[in-house]
Amino acid sequence: MQLSDDVREKLKDCSPPKLFRFEHIDSTIVDIEETDEAKGDVLLFSLDKKDAFDIVASNFDTIGWFVYVDKDLNVYVMGEPEEDTDVTSIFNKLSKFKGFEYRQEQVKMAKIILDAFENSKNAILEAPTGTGKSLAYLVPAVVFAKRHNKRVVISTNTKNLQQQLLKKDLPVLESILNFKSAIAFGRNNYLCRRKAENILSKGDVFLFESDVYAILKEFLLSTETGLKSEFFSKEKGIDESIWKLVESDSLSCAHRKCPYYKNQCFFYRARKKLDLSHIIIANHHLVLSHSIMENAEILPEFDVLVVDEAHNIERNATNYYTDTLTSFDVLNTLDMLYSSKKGKERGLLSAFDEMVLKDKILNVREELKGIFEGLLNRVGSDEVVLDRKNSSEFLDFFKDVVERLDDLQLALKGFISQLDEDDALDIKSVYVKIEGFNKFFKSFIEFDDDGQVYWLKGFKKTVHFNITPINVREALRSYLIENLSSIVFTSATLTVNGDFEFFKRTVGIDDAIEYVAESNFDYKKNSKLFLVYDMLKPDDKDFVAEVSSVLVSIAQALGNTNRGVLALFTSYKALDFAYDLSHKALEELGFNVLKQGELDNFELLSRFKKGKGFLFATSSFWEGIDVKGEELSVVVIVKLPFEVPTTAVERVRYDVMKKEGANPFLEYALPKAVLRLRQGLGRLIRHKSDRGVMVILDSRIVNKSYGKVFLNSLDYMSQERISKDEIKDRISHFFSSISR
Ligand code: SF4
Repeated sequence: MQLSDDVREKLKDCSPPKLFRFEHIDSTIVDIEETDEAKGDVLLFSLDKKDAFDIVASNFDTIGWFVYVDKDLNVYVMGEPEEDTDVTSIFNKLSKFKGFEYRQEQVKMAKIILDAFENSKNAILEAPTGTGKSLAYLVPAVVFAKRHNKRVVISTNTKNLQQQLLKKDLPVLESILNFKSAIAFGRNNYLCRRKAENILSKGDVFLFESDVYAILKEFLLSTETGLKSEFFSKEKGIDESIWKLVESDSLSCAHRKCPYYKNQCFFYRARKKLDLSHIIIANHHLVLSHSIMENAEILPEFDVLVVDEAHNIERNATNYYTDTLTSFDVLNTLDMLYSSKKGKERGLLSAFDEMVLKDKILNVREELKGIFEGLLNRVGSDEVVLDRKNSSEFLDFFKDVVERLDDLQLALKGFISQLDEDDALDIKSVYVKIEGFNKFFKSFIEFDDDGQVYWLKGFKKTVHFNITPINVREALRSYLIENLSSIVFTSATLTVNGDFEFFKRTVGIDDAIEYVAESNFDYKKNSKLFLVYDMLKPDDKDFVAEVSSVLVSIAQALGNTNRGVLALFTSYKALDFAYDLSHKALEELGFNVLKQGELDNFELLSRFKKGKGFLFATSSFWEGIDVKGEELSVVVIVKLPFEVPTTAVERVRYDVMKKEGANPFLEYALPKAVLRLRQGLGRLIRHKSDRGVMVILDSRIVNKSYGKVFLNSLDYMSQERISKDEIKDRISHFFSSISR
């Protein structure tokens, strides 16, 4: 072990004896922090080596690295952490903790993942609820990271999972293994101290309300993290657009030339922590952005990745690989340069006496506003795909926009060349942004990438310009998969009809270790899937009315218990109609009837968890909600969750598949619906002791030939076909039989 120059300076400035916790990169100690506890990696700065022996002797089970440094700054390693790298033995240790148990399938998964990491292979693992999949990848991730001194990134889709990893799984693992972990946020989540100090010192360049200056000042003095979430959690009601003016971003960053770069920059402090971590928790957005943005410095280098909640990766990748720009972004960026309202000037140029340039910015803004309004009238609220047939119709709009931006760029360039480096920095970053916008609009004129969908959408008073890859598999393969030595995809639902073919096709993986873990839950004994074969067809005009009366029968079957029902719809229209028809009858039966959209989802769920709830829900409630116990005893699937190809991108995808001779229904819509149905049903059994019933009211599952793909994918459950008149008795019989 050796000391970095920073640490040497710090030690020279203090008088021994002193105990420090320390951070190290390989064998260099790069940071120290004074402590009273001999825990973790510690450094003793002392005149007497005997002190070091005493500390080691009395704390040997809590100390990792233990380093003694004498007055001449010579370093002696007194103890090294003892590493357990055997997966089985680690899980044995974990099983001693309250709430943890030894699970064969979890250990098996962990060994498969470690094998994938060690042999630079990819792996796809389905792990049903109850397998304990997060520890099944965290344990091999830590073992691998420590063994090879590498970083492993864990990518998640939801905040719930991030919280579980950070608050439950990582702390328990940290208590038996010596490693470092950190959570990564996107760069724009951090306050740029330089910009904030500039705004505070220059006063009214941006013309905030006066209390915003005080709030910003207070935040700057008190925050440790500089995080946007912390700012807005303390200061509710502040206009979110303010953050744009103070956020950290790579274009406007002065990097090493910034006076705060070394120790006081929030972003670089967080980055340093990531650099020192073995395990980094990130989300799909960040990982996918990192994969396409060169030099963005979002995440440190890594070559091993675990993608949890991977069933959504196609949707996530479609969003993140979509290049989007709105007319609001463009106008707002010009405002950052200069605007003048009621005689008050604001923006970066307001500090300069440049009337010609200021007038140009105002004129260009006005002209662009007019062009965007014309475009909005043409597009309305539709999603318009630009294709060979209609692109000429929009050509003039784009040419007009590009002409204005070219003109503005030229004027700005001349102005920036006269500025000194400090003054130029922020204005130049806006210039680079405008240059990027211009390039983006030019691609709508050139329109030359057949692999992309160019589309527009009007929303409120804004036009959204988008370029989306038709196929995300190529993007995922070239940006992500091929750049990593090993990538592990996992989720509770990845197989369709018993195999991973659909998932592999979607993400562009040909060769991977595949494993489906056995559930820890006894689904056959503890749950029942009722398939109602005599319901009207879902497109029948009386279908929803029939659904409403069946929902009342289900409620009657639960009698005077605390059991709750989650009814999952595929559209708000059907949800509203069924709710209107049935909620009075349900309330009379003593249910607390709740409807998605009436309250925010968090509040809705907390009321539902109180018991005897009847929740009408759609969209986000198909996945990610976790209600254990009898408060969620019945899940009703009103309609099989086929996505209608209504979005511009989906329509193009369907057309392209047809042209290629594929069947978009069987090869795309059906497997997607199966995965979604499995997610929906997965809400029911969340714990070993849970018991419950699932009811599918869409008779196509038994009457159509493709229905067997759904049923084969649910073969771990006991299935029974029943008529709608039998629902009440069959459900009531199920619950009375399990309580005997
Ligand atoms: S280093 Fe960059 S992000 Fe950090 S305070 Fe300075 S300019 Fe802002």
